[in-house]
Amino acid sequence: MTNYPNYGRIDGPIVIIGFGSIGRGTLPLIERHFDYDPEQLVVIEPNESVGDFLDARGVRHQQIKITRDNYREVLGGHFAAGQGFCVNLSVDTSSLDLMKFCRELGVLYIDTVVEPWEGFYFETSENAERTNYALRQKVRDEKAANPGGTTAVSCCGANPGMVSWFVKEALLTLAKDTGRDVEAPTNRAAWGALMQSLGVKGVHIAERDTQARHAPRPRGTFVNTWSVEGFISEGFQPAELGWGTHETWMPDNAHSYDTGCQSAIWLERPGAITRVHTWCPTPGPQFGFLVTHNEAVSISDYYTVGPAEAPEFRPTCHYAYHPSDDAVLSLHEMFGSGRQQTVHHILEEDEIVEGIDELGVLLYGHEKNALWYGSRLSNAETRTLAPYQNATGLQVTSAVLAGIVWALENPNAGIVETDEMDHARCLDVQRPYLGPVEAHYTDWTPLQDRWELFPEDIDESDPWQFRNVLAS
Ligand code: NAD
Repeated sequence: MTNYPNYGRIDGPIVIIGFGSIGRGTLPLIERHFDYDPEQLVVIEPNESVGDFLDARGVRHQQIKITRDNYREVLGGHFAAGQGFCVNLSVDTSSLDLMKFCRELGVLYIDTVVEPWEGFYFETSENAERTNYALRQKVRDEKAANPGGTTAVSCCGANPGMVSWFVKEALLTLAKDTGRDVEAPTNRAAWGALMQSLGVKGVHIAERDTQARHAPRPRGTFVNTWSVEGFISEGFQPAELGWGTHETWMPDNAHSYDTGCQSAIWLERPGAITRVHTWCPTPGPQFGFLVTHNEAVSISDYYTVGPAEAPEFRPTCHYAYHPSDDAVLSLHEMFGSGRQQTVHHILEEDEIVEGIDELGVLLYGHEKNALWYGSRLSNAETRTLAPYQNATGLQVTSAVLAGIVWALENPNAGIVETDEMDHARCLDVQRPYLGPVEAHYTDWTPLQDRWELFPEDIDESDPWQFRNVLAS
């Protein structure tokens, strides 16, 4: 790709909050694809070390931490004229407070997770309150209380984010491959009806990251391919999943909700040590971790048919994440020792010597059994597509790019999640950065390829029960 499409002009200031692995990868995409006034681009990042990088690119660096106490003053200073774009790619800043303030000012907003203020993840005593269900529901309540208005795109990374667009592409692929003559639905009810009519019981966000470097992981260092802090925080949240209407059994440690969208349950156990059986094209069957994610709740909510408290149809949906091998070892060390590593390292594109991030959606339970649809982007290809990021990063930053384009084209859509955006338009923008985007059918089910030497608590009458997916 050398002839980069221009997606129009961003008027007013562009404020990027947070300049870690995702901020660093997003900046060149903004520079490449939009017109804007470079004098008005600023990066807010407390870490001094990014200064030289930004200086060299002629980008202003405001070295400050955004806090509950200063966000109105700091952001209000930049956005005094009431236009511009706030791109929140930080940890420890409240997505809800920042998006509310931006909408008050008439400033477009995007983030990649519903992030809380510092302290939330480890200082909140009630596990039910530490869930993504609770974090997301507050954003949904704000949307319901203040519909419409300036666009704020919530959770527009790879996952949450892009995978919601993949679910729609996968549904259309499955419809076509099973001989149905369907037009792409244009509203939520029709998408829910399509998923139901296709017999889909659930969706794994099925990911295998094989990116690796030559050097072995040093003991005492948490190595990951994206935010270590972000991964540790979500890994210690309770496991959560959208809870489908086909499920006949629930784990003893599960809790459900009687307020909000009621689409999910949470387990009294950290997600990063809760294993599930899943499938990706490269490894075939594999273990993934049931790490909580916004999309597990949002996808099961979006495709619900009927009332929240007594749905006629709802898919099960959860993340099934096999992170890079170094990250698996890092988790093992951390949970085993009861201590977080003090040294964090995000693998850089130049030190990675092999591997891909294979991230897709596995739609299961239908007449063709299971369909994986997703991006199989290698680090080697990433290096030819965009600078300053590995494959994981580019899957996220290109979704941020797509979300910014969509927001510019739909500036008064209110608060939206990626399920509610035009998936075809977003994937048009994002696809050139995703490497091979492929559909793979498989006859694998969670009842296959198991060790049969020990008794297991399984339900042979329906392979796609969560009881069979959850590893004992
Ligand atoms: P990172 O840890 O590399 O960087 C986060 C940056 O935020 C750091 O540079 C840190 O100094 C900065 N920061 C911390 N506190 C801040 C504050 N109070 N104000 C301003 N900046 C602050 O993380 P990353 O990999 O760049 O990820 C950034 C965000 O994107 C995280 O919230 C992460 O969970 C999210 N993410 C989402 C996806 C997705 O697919 N949806 C994928 C990867 C990351």
